[in-house]
Order: sequence, then structure tokens, then C-alpha cells
Amino acid sequence: MLIFRQLFDPSSSTYTYLLGSNGEALLIDPVFEQARRDAALIDELGLQLLTTLETHVHADHITAAWLHRQRSASRIGLAVASNAEGADVYLQHGDHVVFGNRHLQVRATPGHTDGCLSFVLDDESMAFTGDCLLIRGSGRTDFQQGDAHTMFKSVHTQLLTLPGNCLLYPGHDYRGLTVTSVAEERRYNPRLGGDISESDFVGYMQNLNLPHPKQIVAAVPANLHCGEPQAGTGAELQQDWATLVYTFAGIWEITPEGLEEVAEHIQIIDVREADEFNGTLGHIRGAKLIPLGEVEARLQELNSDCPIVTVCRSGARSAQATVLLQKAGFTNVANLAGGMLHWRGNGHPVEGGSD
Ligand code: FE
Repeated sequence: MLIFRQLFDPSSSTYTYLLGSNGEALLIDPVFEQARRDAALIDELGLQLLTTLETHVHADHITAAWLHRQRSASRIGLAVASNAEGADVYLQHGDHVVFGNRHLQVRATPGHTDGCLSFVLDDESMAFTGDCLLIRGSGRTDFQQGDAHTMFKSVHTQLLTLPGNCLLYPGHDYRGLTVTSVAEERRYNPRLGGDISESDFVGYMQNLNLPHPKQIVAAVPANLHCGEPQAGTGAELQQDWATLVYTFAGIWEITPEGLEEVAEHIQIIDVREADEFNGTLGHIRGAKLIPLGEVEARLQELNSDCPIVTVCRSGARSAQATVLLQKAGFTNVANLAGGMLHWRGNGHPVEGGSD
């Protein structure tokens, strides 16, 4: 069975695509700031990340390719023609990129940049078009090595020749559109569809007059090194004070075993109500009672230099408490996964309470 997820980075309007088969995964165009989120999803789906693929050297965001390779030893794949350094696989038109028992076919679709690639699923049911063909639009041709003539040829020879029902997934969309099809774009793309000729397209593209992307000065040099950060930019995927798991829901979690190891050196905040704290489940020794509804008003009772683990009955209210604490500027915060129920169930010591 094919696993497919479309992920979004709101600050750059970039789509990242996760494809999985037989326990193996690919990511297309992962975004630096979303690396932790995407890694959590890959873990939760039980997949191993084999390869990250770039459709091109981006000008509007920094790739997470290097971060994912650090974390999961995935290979970095991009076009030979990208002129980027530090990749593991340099791709050319006609190559196949395998995951599980599926593969993507690599097609060269230059025009936005010289090194632009599109990736077509083995059965031609979907294609990932990067910044070449967008939904009712196209990528820009006015910076990097952009060339409207080249883009027109790429779209008409490599993409609109796919089967009409092939779904097309772009590298960006700025209006919230998520997917289109070859048949739709052949007919309705206002720059490239219908009877629009190459010179019509070139004229259109020469008169867009758009400002340069906000991130271009930082993004292009970083992406030419596959997103490897310069020293000291602090691109941690982990908090380092305990063994934690970051969930796709956006919460740092600690297991009861992990908490017992560090309990003496941290702050444990129990966010249940007082009658629960003193009730049948008991509480963890040293835990400070601050009911969830009082957390924001009592932040001054917490030491911002010392990590915090939040606790409740099942781990739901305490997850919300970690969100409040992080918003308030506390950086080393984790939720006790499964709460007091899990803590007691795994046989860890409890103060008070009854059986
Ligand atoms: Fe781009």
C-alpha cells in the first residue's frame, strides 16, 4: 500500500511530500523549520526515511535535507545540474528512485532553474512538479537561471504529456490549492494551457514584475550545501536534558522511565485539580500542584533555568500545559506520556493515593 502525505510550511507556502511503501519513505522538498514535525510523522507511521529529494535549489526556504541525514542517515538526492555540493545521489533525467516496492521516475524539467526536476510515480498516477508547473500557474523565470522558453518546453514535453488523470502536486501554492490534474492544466492553465504558444508564454513571464523572494540571500547559498547550517546556528532536533520524543502533534514527551532518571534535577508540575492530586491516583514525589487553569497566572513560581515535566491523569491536560509554558518562553519542557495512569501502571513510586 502506498502511503502519501502532503505537508505544508505556512511561512514559505511550500509543500513537502512524504511517500512510503513497505516501511521505507522518501521526502520531497523538506523544509528546515519543519524537520522535527516531519521526522515525528515518519516515526509515527513506522517508516524509515531512505532519501530526501529536492526538485531544485530553492530561493524561498532552506531545505531540511542535511538535518534529516544527520538524524536518520537518509541520502540526499538532487539534480547533477543543480551545482549543489554535499549530496549523496546526483540525479539525471531517466533515473529511478526506489522506496519499498515503488519508485519515482526522474524527469528533467528546467526553466525555473537549470537543475529543476519533476518526479513521476511508477504508475503515472501522480507527479511532483516542483516550481515548474503550478496549479493554474508556473514557477518564476526571472532569477537564478530562469528561462521562459526552456520552461515552456519542459511543461509541454515532460508534464502535459502524462495521462490526463495523472494528479499533479506542485512545490508551492499561495492560495491554498493542493492538487490538480494533467487534463485540467492542459485546458485551464492561464499561462500554459489551451492554445497558448511559446511566445505568448514568454511575453506573459517577462511582465510579471514580482519582488524577489524574501529569503533568497540566505536560502540559495545554504541550499547549495544541502541545507547544512553554518556553525552556531543551533539546529537541534532534540532537547538534550532527557530522552524525549517529539510527536507529530507538536509535543515533547517523556516516558515514565525517562522521568524517573531525571526527576531529582528537574521541576515536576502536576496540572490536575487539588482533589485529584490528593486523590486515589496519588502524585509523584516532589511534584508541585498548579492546576491547568492557573498555570499562566503562576509562571513566576517556576524556575526558567530548570527543565519542566508536566503531569496530569492521562497526559492530555499536561500536553496543553507544555504548549502554554513554551509560549511563555520556557524552552526545556516535556509532557509525561500517559500521565499518572501510565506512571502507576509501569510501577513507579507514588506518594499518597490508594489501590
Ligand atoms: Fe523555487
